[in-house]
Amino acid sequence: VLPLDVRDVVFEYVPGTRVLDSWSAQFEAGSVTALTGPSGRGKSTLLYLLGLMLRPRSGSILVDGNDVTRLADAQLAHLRAERFGFVFQDAALDPSRSILDNVTETALYRGQSRRSVTPRALDLLTRFGVDIPPKRKPGQVSGGQAQRIALCRALLAHPKILLADEPTGNLDPATTTLVVDALRDHARNGAAVIIVTHSPEVAAACDRELRL
Ligand code: ADP
Ligand code: ADP
Repeated sequence: VLPLDVRDVVFEYVPGTRVLDSWSAQFEAGSVTALTGPSGRGKSTLLYLLGLMLRPRSGSILVDGNDVTRLADAQLAHLRAERFGFVFQDAALDPSRSILDNVTETALYRGQSRRSVTPRALDLLTRFGVDIPPKRKPGQVSGGQAQRIALCRALLAHPKILLADEPTGNLDPATTTLVVDALRDHARNGAAVIIVTHSPEVAAACDRELRL
């Protein structure tokens, strides 16, 4: 069963202006897909649709074989919390909790023990070059750092579906390689990983490229 199956999806923000017009694609576990294409083609929109944050105007989105298009908002929120990892530019970090607590939050919610999660969280933060004391609150971090913190949070929780918007956008080449390798490892462990990227090198390092 495919983790994500998009069938004939139509989407428009403004009536009559179709961002996606009868768009279909299948996403397999074990594979990293790069979504590429010029600015304004609908890559971010597609990520929001795949993440069940926007609803298609018509067509359907199947998660693990189940059509979720007509589920209630609360059910979609539950599905997101259980199955998805998000690495978006607006990383939605909780400003009232430490960076470490932000990173461990989803893994703890999914039932992992604090004892196993904390050392791995610290290891991920170090690996991706988040050089801020992890007990500090995320108020002062840059956008790029916030996104790497969100990447740590997502990887730690082992989501079956991981969606990332420009996860290497602000990174130096060495850290870019680390992030791409981590995403590939995560896919190898049985997840469907989908990233938006403007980098041909990053797209080439993925298992496939879908151009919009
Ligand atoms: P990309 O990620 O490929 O740059 P987007 O998904 O951000 O493309 O945008 C696709 C199209 O939808 C663009 O024409 C953009 O201007 C438009 N768009 C994106 N978000 C909104 C929105 N919230 N309201 C209206 N139009 C939007
Ligand atoms: P990216 O290039 O990373 O896709 P954009 O600059 O296209 O990002 O969009 C940034 C944010 O602005 C997104 O949340 C998108 O939904 C929103 N947005 C983009 N175009 C429009 C638009 N025409 N009207 C309203 N919101 C938009």
